[in-house]
Amino acid sequence: MERDAGTGEKGEYLRRLSSVNDLIQAVYRSRKAGVRGIPRELVAEASRAVIQGIRQAILEARDELSLKEIKTSADELAPLVEEEVKRRLSPSLRRVVNATGVVVHTNLGRSLLPRAAVEALEMAATRYTNLEFEVEEGRRGSRQVHLRRLLCELTGAESALVLNNNAAAVLLALTAHAQGREVIVSRGELIEIGGSFRLPEIMAQSGARLVEVGTTNKTYLEDYRRAITENTAVILKAHTSNYRIVGFTAQVTVEELASLAAEHGLILMEDLGSGTYVDLSEHGLPWEPTVKSSLEAGADLVTFSGDKLLGGPQAGIVLGRAELVEKMARHPLARAVRIDKLSLAALEATLRIYFDPAAALQEIPTLRMLTEDQEVLRSRAEGLAARIREIAPSLAVEVARDVSRAGGGSLPQADIPTWTVTLRWKGHGAEELEGRLRRHSIPIIARVKNDRVIIDVRTLLEDEPAIIAEALGDITSATRGE
Ligand SMILES: *Cc1c(COP(=O)(O)O)cnc(C)c1O
Repeated sequence: MERDAGTGEKGEYLRRLSSVNDLIQAVYRSRKAGVRGIPRELVAEASRAVIQGIRQAILEARDELSLKEIKTSADELAPLVEEEVKRRLSPSLRRVVNATGVVVHTNLGRSLLPRAAVEALEMAATRYTNLEFEVEEGRRGSRQVHLRRLLCELTGAESALVLNNNAAAVLLALTAHAQGREVIVSRGELIEIGGSFRLPEIMAQSGARLVEVGTTNKTYLEDYRRAITENTAVILKAHTSNYRIVGFTAQVTVEELASLAAEHGLILMEDLGSGTYVDLSEHGLPWEPTVKSSLEAGADLVTFSGDKLLGGPQAGIVLGRAELVEKMARHPLARAVRIDKLSLAALEATLRIYFDPAAALQEIPTLRMLTEDQEVLRSRAEGLAARIREIAPSLAVEVARDVSRAGGGSLPQADIPTWTVTLRWKGHGAEELEGRLRRHSIPIIARVKNDRVIIDVRTLLEDEPAIIAEALGDITSATRGE
């Protein structure tokens, strides 16, 4: 049975605990390089936080033994304050190693930008630009011109508009075209993406009324037809980006919906989600509708993200009939969700790469990772395994086939063959090793499967095998004596 540390004893520890002022003095007295030149207010705040944490630990101590381990003097606590100051001064957003094999990893920042996009972004960040200025005429211009022509040339669309993200594109499209009116959506396509993009909620926000038709697994053209009233404005087709309905299913094609919409003077809008330009099925991946195929099939408006399969910066791209796109551009909401100049610069540079599809597969990291050659992956895995065996000999290391996921609501459920390095650590669980990699100075994010840590080499960058091997060396040697 656990013996409760007496309140009297806890009181004694609390009395002994350094005051905030004494602690601040001790920190400055210790004269570590760490606090010199740091605002006193920050040292004070960190000191308060440390004292508060210790007070809590005293109150929560369950027995004398744990109480005894608690430090209370100013000199003992000073190093903790320095650590806290350092923590508060270090950037919150930092690099991690994506060893998950999920290429468009929503939690790890989705797509990495091609080199050309980074250069464009830097130029736009550090120089004045013609963002909204017509140089020839010497008058005010629109930021949309930089992308509109490019997008139209690439996709054959009549017009284009670029916004902050795809959620904004869908919201603006519904607000501008269906506020106070009805929008028909199949029950099989009432998507939720990434926990916060939920179609029914976006619909409510836009002021449009959602009319659900069909069932989860089967929706027929007749279902749409019967739901049309004089109040209908839009038929919306949403790409089921992060799930597939399999088994006995029926969906209506864009072509069929396009003729139904035209017959009744409605707008057919397709939320493509990922929106790819390159037909990935030519590279061993499952077929996804391309932006072009959706437009050619007759969609009046198409929306998709800039940072999913397109491989550019965060952005929401709207393509479609000129008068529909124009109406969106003029809507007051457009100003609130417009694209910023840095993303615009990066997106323009990314899109230009697509004029040469072979270059796109090489230069756009998302596409390169998704279509990486099996032999390249295998030799990368073998190279990593060899490094690890050398630097962390206590690990059981194997090279194994596995499957990667595209992620980010792209190519749902598609199993993409890959090569991995699997790790087992004698006397330690896989969760423990995974956690230590995650808490490494450069966090390494890996998976656990069958009691092994799995490193998928598909998403590793050039310098990352070395980072992983060194981390594993540190982790396994630091614990050797435990
Ligand atoms: C990802 C996705 C969205 C949201 O796009 P963001 O660019 O993240 O705002 C909307 N619809 C579909 C179908 C998606 O896959």
